[in-house]
Amino acid sequence: MSYLVLARKWRPKSFAEVVGQQHVLRALINGLDQDRLHHAFLFSGTRGVGKTTLARILAKSLNCEQGVSSTPCGECQSCIEIDNGRFVDLIEVDAASRTKVDDTRELLDNVQYAPSRGRYKVYLIDEVHMLSGHSFNALLKTLEEPPPHVKFLFATTDPQKLPVTILSRCLQFNLRRLELPQISDHLAFILQQENIQFETEALTQIARAADGSMRDALSLLDQAIAFGGGEVSSDTVFQMLGSISQQQLTLLLHALQQQDAKALLAQSAELAALGRDFGVVFDYMLAALQHIATLQLVPDMESTESSSAELKELAQLFDAETVQLLYQIALHGKRDLSWAADPQSGFEMTLLRMLSFRPAPPPTESEETAPLKKSPPPSKPAVTPPPVSQATPPETPPITEAAVKTAPAAPRPETPPIDQAAPAPVTQPVTAANDAEPGSAGQRPDLDLTPDNWTRIIAELKLSALTRQLAENSALVRVEQQAVHLSLSPELAHLATDKSKKRLCDALSTKLGQELKLVFAEPADVQDAGPTLAVERAALAAEKQQQAVDAINNDPAVEIIKNTFNARIIEQSIKPID
Ligand SMILES: [Zn+2]
Repeated sequence: MSYLVLARKWRPKSFAEVVGQQHVLRALINGLDQDRLHHAFLFSGTRGVGKTTLARILAKSLNCEQGVSSTPCGECQSCIEIDNGRFVDLIEVDAASRTKVDDTRELLDNVQYAPSRGRYKVYLIDEVHMLSGHSFNALLKTLEEPPPHVKFLFATTDPQKLPVTILSRCLQFNLRRLELPQISDHLAFILQQENIQFETEALTQIARAADGSMRDALSLLDQAIAFGGGEVSSDTVFQMLGSISQQQLTLLLHALQQQDAKALLAQSAELAALGRDFGVVFDYMLAALQHIATLQLVPDMESTESSSAELKELAQLFDAETVQLLYQIALHGKRDLSWAADPQSGFEMTLLRMLSFRPAPPPTESEETAPLKKSPPPSKPAVTPPPVSQATPPETPPITEAAVKTAPAAPRPETPPIDQAAPAPVTQPVTAANDAEPGSAGQRPDLDLTPDNWTRIIAELKLSALTRQLAENSALVRVEQQAVHLSLSPELAHLATDKSKKRLCDALSTKLGQELKLVFAEPADVQDAGPTLAVERAALAAEKQQQAVDAINNDPAVEIIKNTFNARIIEQSIKPID
C-alpha cells in the first residue's frame, strides 16, 4: 500500500476531529442539529486552515444515510464515498481552473435536477474568488432562487474579491489561523498515534514555520520524518528548517547583551557549521527581540512561547532603546544578506554592527540640550526686521564717515553675539541715529535714512521687478541734504536705467515724505558704501543655511543613523526651516 501523506491520512472526518475554529463549528453544529441550514456557505481563511475539510464534513452531515445531523455516521455508503471523494452528488470544483462562464453554465445546468443518490446536491467551489464576472452572474441567478435540494459551499482565501451580491447571499465563516500550541499539540497527537518518536521542541519549530496552517505543518512533519529516518528530533528539524534552537538563540542574545564579540563569532561559526539558514536565523532573532520589547512594556503578558522564561530574563538585562536598535539592525542585516559576499559574513557583520552601535547612554541629556542651545543662532534671524539695521555691520564693512551721523553711541557689534542681539539695544540704534542726526550733522531734521536702516527701508518699498533689482543691489553711501548718494557695483550698472532710477527715487521720496534726488556714486566710492539688501539677504541666507547644516551635523540622532546605516548627509539637501 502506498504511503498516504499525513495531511490526507489525518484529515478530520468529523467535526469533533477538527482542530480549532470553534466559532465556526458551533454555528454549523447548531444549524445541522436544529435543521436550520442556509443554502449557501462561504468559508474564508488562509491556506491550510480547514476550509474544504469543513465543507466536506458538512456535505457528509447533509447526506449521511442515517439522517441530517452534525455527527455523520462515517460508515454508510454516502459517508464512505464522500470521504473517498467519489460521491456523485458532491460536485467539487476548483474555480482556479474553471473560470469561464461556459464552465459555470455547464456546472449549473444540472442544478435543477434532483440529486441522484443523496439528499442534497452539494456544490463545493474552491477558490471561488477566481471565477470571472460572467460566471458570478450565472451563479448569482441560481443563488437567488436555489432549488431546495441544492447547497452551495464556497471556499476562498480572498473573500475581498467576491462581488457583494454573492457575499450577501452566503452565510460567511472566517476561519482563523491556527495558534502555535494548537498545531504542535495536534502534531504530537498524530505522532503518538503513528508510534513515531519525537522531541517537543521539534514540533514547536515546525508549528512556528507552518505559520498558522495545519496542512503546511503536516507537510513539514512528513518531511521531518523522512529526514530523520523515522523519528522527529530537534536537530533534524533545525537542520531541515535551517533554523536555530532556542538555546542557541538565547546564547546569541546573551553574547550581544554582554558585548562579547568572541562568543558571537563562535556562535556564528557554529551555526554555519550546522548549515543553518542565516535568513531564518534573522527571523528568529527578530521574533525574539520583538518578544523582549513587548515583555519590557507588558511584563505580565501571557505567552505561548516555551522560551518565555529566558526571554523574560533578557528583557530585564537589555534596556529598551538597545532592543529597538538591535531589532532595526537585524532587520537591515536580513535585508542585506543577499548582498553580502556570503551569508555567514553578512550575518557576522550584522552582529558586529550590533556591538558597535548602542544608543548613546545618559549623556544624551546634556548633549541634546547643547545643540538646542546652539539653535539660538537660527532664532536670531527671526528677530530680523528691526535688528537688520544693527546686525548688518558684520557682513560688509560699514561705511564709516556716514556713521558719524549714525548714532555714535550705537554699539556696533563687530560680530553680533547671539545672546546680546536680543536685549534692549536692538532697537536703540535707529532711534539713537534719529536723535543724533539733527544736532550733530545738521541734516534735514526728519530725514531718517542711514546706511544702517537703508536695507530695511528698501525692503519695505513697493517696487516693480527691475527697480527692485536696482534698489536691492544699491548701497547707501551718504545723504547730503536731499541728495541720496548710492553706489552700484559696475557689473550691475545696466540696472540703473533712467526709468528705474526715477521710480526708485519716487518711491523713496514718498516713503520718507521728502522730495529726494538720487546720485549714483563713482565706482571709486563704492568701497565706502554700506550694505546692499541683496548682499545682506545672501549673507543671511548663507548664515541660516550654515546653521541648518551645523544643526544637522551636530544632531546625535543623525549621527546614530549615519553610523548604523552607513549613511552620509547630502549637504545640498539641507534646507533651513523658516
Ligand atoms: Zn453516514
